[in-house]
Amino acid sequence: MHRNPQSGLIPPANGAWAWLAPGNSWGWSNAGLISDGEESLLVDTLYDLELTDEMLAKMRDAEPLANNIDTLVNTHANGDHCHGNELVCGAEIIASSASAAEMAELPPEAMAAIVAMAPDMGEMGRYFLDCFGQFKFEGITFTPPTKTFEGELHLQVGDKPVELIEVGPAHTRGDILVHSPKDRVVYTGDILFIEGTPIIWEGPVNNWTEACRRIEAMDVDHIVPGHGPITDKHGVAAVRQYLEFVHEQARQRYDAGMSAFDAAKDIELAEYSAWSDPERIAVNVDSLYREFRGEQAASDVFELFARMAALAGYDVATP
Ligand SMILES: [Zn+2]
Repeated sequence: MHRNPQSGLIPPANGAWAWLAPGNSWGWSNAGLISDGEESLLVDTLYDLELTDEMLAKMRDAEPLANNIDTLVNTHANGDHCHGNELVCGAEIIASSASAAEMAELPPEAMAAIVAMAPDMGEMGRYFLDCFGQFKFEGITFTPPTKTFEGELHLQVGDKPVELIEVGPAHTRGDILVHSPKDRVVYTGDILFIEGTPIIWEGPVNNWTEACRRIEAMDVDHIVPGHGPITDKHGVAAVRQYLEFVHEQARQRYDAGMSAFDAAKDIELAEYSAWSDPERIAVNVDSLYREFRGEQAASDVFELFARMAALAGYDVATP
């Protein structure tokens, strides 16, 4: 696993905290805390209860307002950003309408069931366990949002305005940014993977590059990604350039009649191969091909994991 240079609770600005995971591979997600006056707002929970519990304990030690979190915002539907929701007792849980619908489709029990089956799934199961085996999905109670919105939602934490800005569908169906202008901080969820490969589960890719441009235009000092270290505008530009590069490379191969998986194998990632989990190119090209064909339906997720496992060097049969 790529290790992050800094991890744990980081105060990036007065009254706005970042929680950084120790690494940035599968499931190792970041979170944030904004507080002011008598109020506090948590940005995302983590992949399992133990990780979320540890984070909340550290937040409470550093910031008494974290003992009674008023608002929890889930940036998107992936479990590594919402599986710990049940531990934020009494908070209003806010997500985009699209994220709330998507969360209900892959509840924690489904992940627990897949991990339980993985030992019988050969090399593909081994890849799956290498990605997700260190998390504990058993016993998590699915805790969905209590309030949803579309577009933008303006909140107030003490005297601080906090803007929720829907920029999806992009990484997932309902990605949002959480911007605290007074703290000069934006929490981007998985619109930013820093030093890790972005994964396009949903698209269209232009929504995602547009979201990057929106962050690049913000008057902020601290940019907290969904995965990887705190970054700056150069880090945002690198994510956008990766997406533009993959878009262009996939389009050339689509026009030449190459299959999505052959294209994923054929694209020379050059400097991007140093980012963690470069095999996510298999999902990215598949999503771009769906976009080129004008298809809505997502591809079979087991097939996509088989392709990623093959690219990562596991001995998996792929068509
Ligand atoms: Zn994530």
